[in-house]
Amino acid sequence: KVKHANKNGFAYYSDELYEGMKERVVNEKLLHKRLKEKSLLVYFQPKYRLADNTVSGMEALVRIKDDDDNIISPLSFIPVAEETGLIIELGNQVLDQSCALARQLLTEGNPIKIAVNVSASQFNDTRFTAIVADILLKHELPAKYLELEITESALIENINSANKTMRQLRKIGVSIALDDFGTGYSSLSYLRNFNFNVLKIDRSFVKDLDKDEQAQNIVMAIVTLARSLDLQIVCEGIETEHQLTFLKRIGCHEGQGFYFTQPLPYEQLKSRLYLPNDDA
Ligand code: C2E
Ligand code: MG
Ligand code: MG
Ligand code: MG
Repeated sequence: KVKHANKNGFAYYSDELYEGMKERVVNEKLLHKRLKEKSLLVYFQPKYRLADNTVSGMEALVRIKDDDDNIISPLSFIPVAEETGLIIELGNQVLDQSCALARQLLTEGNPIKIAVNVSASQFNDTRFTAIVADILLKHELPAKYLELEITESALIENINSANKTMRQLRKIGVSIALDDFGTGYSSLSYLRNFNFNVLKIDRSFVKDLDKDEQAQNIVMAIVTLARSLDLQIVCEGIETEHQLTFLKRIGCHEGQGFYFTQPLPYEQLKSRLYLPNDDA
């Protein structure tokens, strides 16, 4: 990434372009390698019920390591994965690792639902439901322990096929969350036409809660709307006590964010979760 803005607009732009292209090529190579090795890292970030601060689930968030062991953010390789089609294999591996963990936790007496992010191209792949069903079967994981997070972009391409996929997934018992709510174009019609279980309010609204009365009003309106549609409401990106207090007061059900816990490898997260059967 370019860290220093150049005074000359053109030079800055071409530096950025060049650096961006270089980063893409590097990330594509790396991604190929990690997928082949099956060495993606999957971090987990807990979600909490705001009423009692107990863990309601965890979200799987993928990372890769470069050859110097630096952790690379999904923001810089998910777009590459999408452009190259590698997203299908990446998605399958993340699903597989996530279901394996949910299964392990269930066996240990800690039933925890894991939410996995799904890209538009995965969701619009006609094989998607079958892939999900196969992975659940492989791990003997009941579908109710899996949630899939999709964004509006997954629905926009082909409304009919997206609708079909969603009905199939709901039928096998997987729950579906609409991620990053509020950042897309026509969110309201999606709420009407698709049968979501969960609505996740985008971090950008939460970020502005402390200083911006408009953000407060918008979040209140979203919560009212979602509650009237019987949707579970999760707020992403909670960083302060103040944000938490506000969200709790207006009736948001669950929250997630650095205030509680950052995404971590499960082995590091384990001791912070206080699961009912942790003494086991
Ligand atoms: P997302 O699904 O909306 O995930 C939330 C992002 O916000 C995560 O970034 C998380 O680390 C970050 N976050 C959580 N709490 C806070 C907070 O309190 N403050 C701030 N500033 N950030 C917070 P991350 O892990 O970098 O992931 C970014 C995006 O990459 C995700 O957004 C998701 O769209 C995508 N992604 C991650 N893993 C996968 C995956 O396995 N498959 C696909 N298709 N996309 C993924
Ligand atoms: Mg998500
Ligand atoms: Mg999100
Ligand atoms: Mg987001």
